[in-house]
Amino acid sequence: MTLFGVYGASGCGRGVMPLLRHILPEEAEAVFIDDGDHPPRVNGHRCLTWEAFLADEAETRAACLAIANGAVRARLADTCASAGVGFFSVRAGNVVIMDEVAISPGAILSPFVTLTSNIRIGHHFHANIGSYVEHDCVIGDFVTFAPGVKCNGNIVIEDHAYIGTGAILRQGRPGAPLTIGRGAGVGMGAVVTKDVPPGVTVVGNPAKPLIKD
Ligand code: UDP
Repeated sequence: MTLFGVYGASGCGRGVMPLLRHILPEEAEAVFIDDGDHPPRVNGHRCLTWEAFLADEAETRAACLAIANGAVRARLADTCASAGVGFFSVRAGNVVIMDEVAISPGAILSPFVTLTSNIRIGHHFHANIGSYVEHDCVIGDFVTFAPGVKCNGNIVIEDHAYIGTGAILRQGRPGAPLTIGRGAGVGMGAVVTKDVPPGVTVVGNPAKPLIKD
């Protein structure tokens, strides 16, 4: 028997558990894994520390990293891989996925997400409620979309980028995609009209680099 663990019992994880429950075989159990201070049960599911998850009597284990911070997901992905824990993906029943979409393991696709055609997505992608990815996009590993992200066609989003709630990314062109660099951030509601360099956070309309006081 496989024990399915949703890693993270906070806001993100509690939004993912119902999606997992929906697709889980009847005899399987879904638990939360959380290293913080949590009660033994969360929303009716056992909440285990990582050590307790590994010590459970299940024959095999698999996890889904339900933590919005991509850097934390990357660290926990290494932890899981070194312990031989595999990954599963979850998606809401109303997610729409069109043609030639390749998604690596560990993805979380929340309700009302749409992925149109000819899209490639890396490991442990999060697309929160109502986000979309249009045609010919390439998305890296550990990328996070908050709710309502509008990712138009011909966009490249590199590893570890974070796109805030309601951000709009302007369509790129074939052979000249709009690029969001590795580890870049896009603030909520931003309208991104040109490339964002790696590690830079942009905000506003049109989006400009955030200057901290
Ligand atoms: N967490 C964990 N192990 C880690 C880092 C974080 O179990 O190494 C848990 C942390 O205890 C918390 C959750 O992940 O319960 C992250 O929750 P947070 O509210 O920060 O973010 P979100 O749920 O929005 O991703």
